[in-house]
This record gives sequence, C-alpha cells and structure tokens, in this order.
Amino acid sequence: MSQYNFTFSEVMTKKPKPLGKQLQFGKYFTDHMFVMEYHHQKGWYDGKIIPYQPLTLDPASMIFHYGQTVFEGLKAYKSKDGETRLFRPKENINRLNRSNARMCIPEIDPDLALAAIKELVRIENDWIPKQEGTSLYIRPFIIATEPYLGVSASKQYKFIIILSPVGAYYKEGINPVRIAVETEYIRAVKGGTGEVKTAGNYASSLIAQEKAEASGFAQVLWLDGHDKKYIEEVGSMNVFFKIDGEVITPELNGSILPGVTRNSVIEVLRDWGVPVVERKILLEELITAHKEGRLEEAFGSGTAAVISPIGELNCNGEALIINNQETGEIAKKLYETITGIQYGHLEDKFNWID
Ligand code: PMP
Repeated sequence: MSQYNFTFSEVMTKKPKPLGKQLQFGKYFTDHMFVMEYHHQKGWYDGKIIPYQPLTLDPASMIFHYGQTVFEGLKAYKSKDGETRLFRPKENINRLNRSNARMCIPEIDPDLALAAIKELVRIENDWIPKQEGTSLYIRPFIIATEPYLGVSASKQYKFIIILSPVGAYYKEGINPVRIAVETEYIRAVKGGTGEVKTAGNYASSLIAQEKAEASGFAQVLWLDGHDKKYIEEVGSMNVFFKIDGEVITPELNGSILPGVTRNSVIEVLRDWGVPVVERKILLEELITAHKEGRLEEAFGSGTAAVISPIGELNCNGEALIINNQETGEIAKKLYETITGIQYGHLEDKFNWID
C-alpha cells in the first residue's frame, strides 16, 4: 500500500477479459481508472480509483477548445514467475511533468503519480496478459476542465490513468517496415511542442500518416521544420542509423520527443562498447552513405514496438533499400536485450524495473 491512500470504489460487475483474442492495441480497457482533480485554489486533490466509466464534462471545458492536455504511454510486463514489472516509469512521469510545464499545466508530485500507477496496476493485476510479447499499456493523461472560452491556462484539471491490455507487437517475428520520407508536412519545430507529449502534435501528424499509408508505407520519416534537410523522427518513434560501424541518432534539439526507449538504446549500446553519437543528421548524408554501401542499418525505437527495423526509406519515389530489407544485427540484439529486461529473462543491470 502506498502512503497516499487513494479512495477505492470497486466495480460491481467485472468485464469479461478479452482472453484468447488478438489484443488489438488500445481497444480494451480494464475495470477501474484513477482520477484526481486540480483546482487552482486547492492544488491536486481527491485521488481515487473508481470503476472505468465515461466522463461528464461541461462542453465549455477548455480541453475541447484549445487542446490543453498532456499524456504518457508506458507498460507493465508479467515475468514467467508472475512478477509485475514496470519499465522505467519514473522517466515517463518526469516527461509528463516536462510536458505539463510546456503546456502551462500544474506539475504532479512524481511520487504520487508513481504510487497511483502502481496501485491501479496492482488492483488490475488479473488484466496483465501473460503471453510473451503482451503487456498492460498504461495511459496517464491530464485534461483542462475549466468551463471557460477565454484563451488562457485553465484553472481546473483532471489527471486520469487508464489501462489497456495489449497483444504482442510482432506476431510473426520482428520485421522491417517501409518508410516514406515526408517532404511536405512537418511534425514539429524548435520552440514549438514537439519535445513534449501533447495531443496537437499527434492530430497534426495524421495527414502525413494517411498519405504514407495510402501509398503502401507503414510510417513517415519526419524532417526538421526549418530546412526540411535534417532527420528528426520516424512516425511516433525515435530513429537510429548505423553507418560505418557507428550508431547515430538525431540529437535532442527542441523538436524531437526524448523517448524513454531512445535513452535505453543509447545506454545499452554504450554498455556494449558500440560507438553511439547524438548529432544532426542530414537526409543527404544518409542518401550518400546508402549509395556508397555504408548505411548498414536503420531502426525506430519506442514503447509500442521497442525496436522497429526500417527496410526501405522512400524519398519522393527513390527507394533506399537497407540491409536487404532484413532485420539488422544491432536492431535484433537491442530488441532481445531490452525485451529481455522488460520480461525478466535478463538481469536488470541498469536498474530500469520498478
Ligand atoms: N517520438 C514520438 C513522437 C512519440 O510519440 C514516442 C512515443 N512516446 C516516441 C518518440 C518514443 O518514445 P518512448 O520510447 O518513450 O515510447
């Protein structure tokens, strides 16, 4: 039990669990949710765990009009011996508070947020799927609830945590995807909101995603918003390349989301003694390296897939085929190492599990 003593109202009738079904991402939700209120004169108060249910909100609630909101995404994993393992939750809570600061939302006590996540996950223990590759996705988010149409920071908020059991990302083994380089739309600019997790970033990225999908690509490669020359991210993942034996990833420049998986990849590579550099990467540089046969691997990193190898980068019809469209050695080894730590097959040598 935590020191916070959240009130708990248990659901009367539990939902049937979607057992044996293909657990499509983000479609099923558990029996309970965490809710906490904020009022500018009271601060955060009244944290409680209640039956999962619709919200009743004033139509003038500021979230609906000006999009003042932040969210996070992390996972709980079940080990073979039944232990529940949260992967680096403090990193997500710190990022939530950085998102709050950017979006003029009051910060949340990180210990309270962690206690709320742990308590909800403990109550919903039976909802954590057990098969290898599956997990319980945790979605904490905050919305502005003051009923007011003036453009300003809301004086009232709700912090909510919902949980969703999710299936294995790779059903038939890890496989490389085709990516379209996006040369028309941009995701974020320095000084904007790209380095935090707020809904507008995702709403504005949909059009490029739809365009890419219509042409048979899985995701887009985002270029920088100023020159459209530098690599930023891939879909909603960070991106890595291996050139001449060195792993490179775009440096955090104010428009890139600092991924928890990105940070984990860098730590693992350093631990292995693989050279890894965070710096600006020109699209042109990748094209040249590919031409000269030096672009050995490319992959995305994120909570959903952990590692997603890139088999093709398509730039206005010109296809760069990477590593024969096969999963590269580094991508494979990183995937095995990080998921090994998540599920408890490997020792938690970096102290990532809570
Ligand atoms: N970039 C974007 C835009 C994202 O939405 C995410 C997912 N949170 C990532 C990168 C990867 O971050 P993480 O490794 O923390 O999931």
